[in-house]
Amino acid sequence: MADSIRFRPRRGPRRAAALLSPGGAAAGQIALERGAGARLARLRAAAADRVRQRRAPTRPVMRALVATAPGRLAWRDVPAPAPPGPGAAVVRPIAVATCDMDRPLVLGATPFPLPLALGHECVAEVLTVGDGVRTVRQGQRVVVPFQISCGECVACRAGWTSNCRAVPPISMYGFGVGGGHWGGTLADQLAVPFADAMLVPLPDGIDPVAAASVADTVCDGYRHAGAHLPGLLARDPDTEVLIVAGLDRRPIFSASVPLYCGSAALALGARRVRLVDSRAHVRRAAEGLGIEALDPKALRRLRPAALVVAASASPEGMWAALNKTAPDGVCSSVGGLHRVGRVPLARLYGRNASFHVGRTNARALIPEVLELMASGRFHPELVISAEGSLDDAPRLLDAHYRTADIKTILRA
Ligand SMILES: [Zn+2]
Ligand SMILES: [Zn+2]
Repeated sequence: MADSIRFRPRRGPRRAAALLSPGGAAAGQIALERGAGARLARLRAAAADRVRQRRAPTRPVMRALVATAPGRLAWRDVPAPAPPGPGAAVVRPIAVATCDMDRPLVLGATPFPLPLALGHECVAEVLTVGDGVRTVRQGQRVVVPFQISCGECVACRAGWTSNCRAVPPISMYGFGVGGGHWGGTLADQLAVPFADAMLVPLPDGIDPVAAASVADTVCDGYRHAGAHLPGLLARDPDTEVLIVAGLDRRPIFSASVPLYCGSAALALGARRVRLVDSRAHVRRAAEGLGIEALDPKALRRLRPAALVVAASASPEGMWAALNKTAPDGVCSSVGGLHRVGRVPLARLYGRNASFHVGRTNARALIPEVLELMASGRFHPELVISAEGSLDDAPRLLDAHYRTADIKTILRA
């Protein structure tokens, strides 16, 4: 039970403040700094298609769950995706997960404009593939990364799949116009533009429900451990990990990323993983995974750790995490929507510490995450706090967003 924390939709001036925040302006600049013409062309084409399908439908209708206004969810009848062109596919989501970002998104606490087609994490079944698709076939179960990537550009080849050059910046499912208008995974069907590059077959023996969040949040938690821990452990087997998660009284972000991160660190061999969070139910979930959980009051007396993960999505949490990074250690930030934050430069300089901040390269990480799951050492399914039918999505997700529930999975 997610304690007694309750959240309310942001309407009126509070919604306007979220839309016009300095962080929103920064995100808008990033979205438009490359490929603005392509972004606009996609929007225009989608609007024209909607009008055409309304006047003289040529495609069947499907359901898509839409966040219509802050705190309001409804199924909408929309045209199903067009038959896939060369290299593309159409899939049917069979297990859809909430992301830690969905609560602020749906309640109107982010600069992303509403309405939007919701959902960006899923395992799906391939319905149809276009000409030339080689690596997936009809009926196969696949993880669908939330970010759109082509697999062939200079960024994709380097593994920086979150910055694919073939599409406008921050192109992703489930963020509406802000994410480039690619649709959401809470729908009967989803179009995948680069099937061979994006879709990762689900290994036999892995339950779609267990892997639904691998599309985003599991990779987002795993990456901090996966990128740094093996090297740190090779040099010092006693390397400690500290995850600075929710610090204020009622963090609006869900807590799955910090929990996946701690779990992955243990799976990769860390002997001691600590997580700091103000929420009692998050600390209980962490203890259940073998992570040592502490209240933020304990943070002051904690000694610095060689790997610190700034997972609070707040400038205060990042400041605390940077100050707790040990000599020659690494501070890795999950990021956030604040435009600026303080950095203890002299301390980092004196300690020879490194700081990394950025978005997850989900597609590049999915195979190693699935491999770790298949090895039996990593169990992201233990983080799931509620499960139900996709048909029941409006009711179950409303409950998820208004409480501090950690992870809801919907099965189709
Ligand atoms: Zn997400
Ligand atoms: Zn690319």
